Amino acid sequence: MEDFLSRLKNGPVIVADGAMGTMLQAAGLPLGTSPEGWLLENPDPVVGVHRAYVEAGSELILTCTFGGTRTRLERAGLHDRVAEVNRQAAEIARQAAGEQAYVGGDIGPLGEFLKPLGKIAYEEAVDIFAEQAGALVQAGVDVLYIETMSDLNEARAAVEGAQRVANGIPVTITLSFDSHGRTNMGVKPEQAVETLLPLGVSAIGANCGATLEMTHDAIARMHETAPEAILIAKPNAGKPHLVERQVIYDATPADMAERAREFVALGARIVGGCCGSTSEHIQAIAQAIGVKQT
Ligand SMILES: [Zn+2]
Repeated sequence: MEDFLSRLKNGPVIVADGAMGTMLQAAGLPLGTSPEGWLLENPDPVVGVHRAYVEAGSELILTCTFGGTRTRLERAGLHDRVAEVNRQAAEIARQAAGEQAYVGGDIGPLGEFLKPLGKIAYEEAVDIFAEQAGALVQAGVDVLYIETMSDLNEARAAVEGAQRVANGIPVTITLSFDSHGRTNMGVKPEQAVETLLPLGVSAIGANCGATLEMTHDAIARMHETAPEAILIAKPNAGKPHLVERQVIYDATPADMAERAREFVALGARIVGGCCGSTSEHIQAIAQAIGVKQT
């Protein structure tokens, strides 16, 4: 396969995957269980979810390591298995990707506030992110994919930690815009771009988000702020509704495909889905903008 960074720069657009949690629950992950701990004993369902996305047309799949930092693994009693969890998740993703897809080493927020709101010092956060990223790099991921950030300081720490161990692998980052066009820590899309692009990330964008409109607006404002920036759009499948105790997202595969075209027009070079997106949504996106026609 072509090197990830040159594909990102030269195109064509890369279709990413959809939700992991949503699909894993359908594959048997018990509610309230940490997916990162579960995959150590249950690799096959995780391979199955990755495969479903590759078959739907994803050319970038993310490792099941959103909660793969020491701070999050601590809650699952796995704080001393950071390297093992991340390595195994990367190997599972690689196995599913074969020569058909890139593997993004997924890095989510710490789940705790940095100082002064919380107890974690900035330098400590950098170390924690570097520990996870290092394990992902050793396992051979194609890109370090930081996502769902809200706090700009934490986002910076994640980028710094990832870059410390990246060893030439690109680092990308997306934030979640959840509240009146800002992240729930008050960060505007313009601020995110102005702070994080100069650090040398290869792409920046928005994922998750309160609504499709809010993610769309964030991408538009990022594009306006930095027209040359390579952008990432990985929104939720619309808004969640509770139907018979099940969370259902309201955007159809066709809705997501239409949004995907708009994101590409705004400079997005990686497009996928977040919460509520299934392989059907991804297939519709791939048919609208992808290379691999399924
Ligand atoms: Zn999400």
